[in-house]
Amino acid sequence: MKNIDWTRLLYIVGYHIFLGVALPLFFIERLPPAGIVWSMIALVFATGIAITSGYHRLYSHQAYKAHPIVEVVLLFFATLATQGSALRWCYDHRLHHAFVDTDKDPYSVTKGFWHAHITWIFFKTDEIDPKVVADLYRNKLLVFQHKYYGACLVVASTSVFALFGWLFQDYWASFVFIWWLRTFLLHHSTWSINSLAHMWGTQAYSREHSAVDNYLISLITYGEGYHNYHHTFSNDYRNGIRWYHFDPGKWLIWCLNKVGLAKDLRQVNDFRILRQLVSDHKVLLVDKIKVSFYSHKDRLESRLTELNDSLVGKLSQVQSLIDRYKAVEKRERAKLIGEIRSAKKSLKSSWKEWKNFVKLLERGRVEKLV
Ligand SMILES: [Zn+2]
Ligand SMILES: [Zn+2]
Repeated sequence: MKNIDWTRLLYIVGYHIFLGVALPLFFIERLPPAGIVWSMIALVFATGIAITSGYHRLYSHQAYKAHPIVEVVLLFFATLATQGSALRWCYDHRLHHAFVDTDKDPYSVTKGFWHAHITWIFFKTDEIDPKVVADLYRNKLLVFQHKYYGACLVVASTSVFALFGWLFQDYWASFVFIWWLRTFLLHHSTWSINSLAHMWGTQAYSREHSAVDNYLISLITYGEGYHNYHHTFSNDYRNGIRWYHFDPGKWLIWCLNKVGLAKDLRQVNDFRILRQLVSDHKVLLVDKIKVSFYSHKDRLESRLTELNDSLVGKLSQVQSLIDRYKAVEKRERAKLIGEIRSAKKSLKSSWKEWKNFVKLLERGRVEKLV
């Protein structure tokens, strides 16, 4: 009991109870004004994206650099999200990445869905170790927000509630929907990243941690549902790397970059991503060989290793040639073009061999492989 953080517990349980009573009473009497509902939805998105693009990708992972004006806007909406100061949030999040799925992970899913989703918040957390967030302590805006977080939260929440109450001349609807239902929806969507995005989905990039990719989760978490990719390449400013992946945080950062309000966007190159995909797939295939084709285990494993080494080596070779091409003077580039072409050709044939091996193995046609 002495480890319970009563302020957080009473706040969260309190507003859930309040909504449980206030919402039915509200709907028995009338419907909320449409303007209030649309404003609430817009604010849920604004605050969610501020957490994603601000607290998460900008501050926790330094995936890009933002203009101070952008920082102020992101911090305003992230404060409104009621998830603690940026320093506290980033400290917990960096521990989550560094010690994922262990006791040192503040919201480890190994302790169950409810712990990762909500109950970890009810317990006192360690004091912030300044070494972990030393870079953030150099940012005066963040230090100010951390020091006066309570006051910032009250000012932001009451002013937004009052603004929309005045705008639609309905302070009660604004109080229930703009303040508390918005907080409820936002909290549960962010918390889903710690719970659902570590339980329900696929693990294409790595099986060394519990994080999963799930398109449906990305829809309710402002693009944070590609969590397996994120835990594997956490400094990438994107979570969904394909153009069609729903990732408003990525789109916002990209747009800010185009208008000069964000720079130094960090992006993992495709060859490194492909190397990771192939290496992780190899682990799966080794397991499959052990389980399904034990009598051919040695020969299949050695062929698999041979193909994997060749493919990974060629991916690295093409990447280093491209890096060299970018680094040298223009007149020296012509010589490298031929080398890059032949390295890509050789990579293509290794890729074909790899795919063929995987296809035959997955269809159980091992007689063609041994
Ligand atoms: Zn995670
Ligand atoms: Zn992260």
